[in-house]
Amino acid sequence: MTRVRFAPSPTGHLHVGGARTAIFNWLFAKHHGGTFIIRVEDTDQARSTAESETMVLDDLRWLGLLWDEGPDIGGPHAPYRQSERVNRYAEVARDLLDRGVVYRCYCTEEELEAKRKEAEVAGRPPHYDLKCWINRRDDEGAPHAMRFHVPDDGDVTIDDLIRGGVIWKRESLGDFILIRSDGHPTYNFSVVVDDHDMEISHVIRAEEHLTNTHRQVLIYRAMEWAIPLFAHVSLILGQDRTKLSKRHGATSVTAYAEAGFLPDAMFNYLTMLGWSAPDGRDVFDRQYAIENFTLDRVNSAPAVFDPQKFEWLNGQYIHAMSAAALRPLVVHSIGIDTPWLEEAIDVVKTSVHLLPQFREVLRFVTEYTAPEIDRAFASTVAGDLREHGAPHDADAVKAMNERLKKATGLKGKELFMPLRLAMTGMDHGPELVRAIPLLARASESDPRVLSPLARVEQCIR
Ligand code: GLU
Repeated sequence: MTRVRFAPSPTGHLHVGGARTAIFNWLFAKHHGGTFIIRVEDTDQARSTAESETMVLDDLRWLGLLWDEGPDIGGPHAPYRQSERVNRYAEVARDLLDRGVVYRCYCTEEELEAKRKEAEVAGRPPHYDLKCWINRRDDEGAPHAMRFHVPDDGDVTIDDLIRGGVIWKRESLGDFILIRSDGHPTYNFSVVVDDHDMEISHVIRAEEHLTNTHRQVLIYRAMEWAIPLFAHVSLILGQDRTKLSKRHGATSVTAYAEAGFLPDAMFNYLTMLGWSAPDGRDVFDRQYAIENFTLDRVNSAPAVFDPQKFEWLNGQYIHAMSAAALRPLVVHSIGIDTPWLEEAIDVVKTSVHLLPQFREVLRFVTEYTAPEIDRAFASTVAGDLREHGAPHDADAVKAMNERLKKATGLKGKELFMPLRLAMTGMDHGPELVRAIPLLARASESDPRVLSPLARVEQCIR
């Protein structure tokens, strides 16, 4: 049974890297018909907040990553919030104490700090000096931590599903804490207890946790628990090849949502940070990703976040959407809603990459400043519009163009540029065969929109 989890620490917004990890877990679960679990790792009391948990879960939902078990919906291994599982960690720590691999450590923080300094000066690794292991005593009343003793056979090898074989030597570890003196578990301990209890089969997570795996495997061994398979996903870098951070611009999912990116585009783009489609395509839907997602196609080299490519991809999604589907998103993004909006979206959407850009490209509909153009030309156009009425479809625009060609002797750019200026007030914009019927229709239902004739009359004045 495939069971995977995404385990956010609720200390802020969901970041691009976390979202990518969540996507890989979700895709892996869907590909194998497995279970996708959310576990909230909120044992860092100083930094974890309920608001952050809500934001992170909202962002996951926005990305369309729904879970089968989690803190809000429960499941067979509830609770899914670590702060509610402290009794369970204490229970396992006691079990390890009975097994003789964990001991009570009464050293104070000051003592430990002094020992670390000493080791540093002497050029030794900063490992715990084993004082409380050597003098083991069972005084439950005195303040103490629970420390794990690294056994003599503490070498660990894993076969990481992305990185291949990884080996750690026993000597690289000192005895480490499982439960702090305040009763809170350390990350390495709670993660193992939870991954075991929640029957996680594959741990897919960020590369920064790779070295933690050494300690975690030792805990599994000491408990004689089955060890899950591991897959450590590489870092995401900015374009300067340093770790992606705020310096590179927006890093949270919320920020991209607010900037007008679509969830499907973000899902698609983040999936490509480390994974590539077998046929090399850049644009794919969720179904394609689910069918083709395998960890052997996940690159062990870091992925580079390319904002331009992301924006381009978002544009592909906007262009492929119907105006009817885009309409509510545009209304939400730019706060304009009118009867002509849907037609207008259809006319301009191919020039937009981000939702808020609709505001700019739709401006010509409601805002018009008469340009400096040849008055004689403007009079000819006005005359044609009066005689034939404003064109309401592409054929009617083409017929008007033919008549203007004859009347003015102009053709090509010579004709279309002044006509575009007269109609839109701008020297660039959507195709006139679509823009002119839009203006004609919009002006009939919305008094703020000047009709084609009213526009060209302003050029004569
Ligand atoms: N809570 C950890 C983090 O946010 C994840 C730990 C894990 O996946 O093992 O980095």
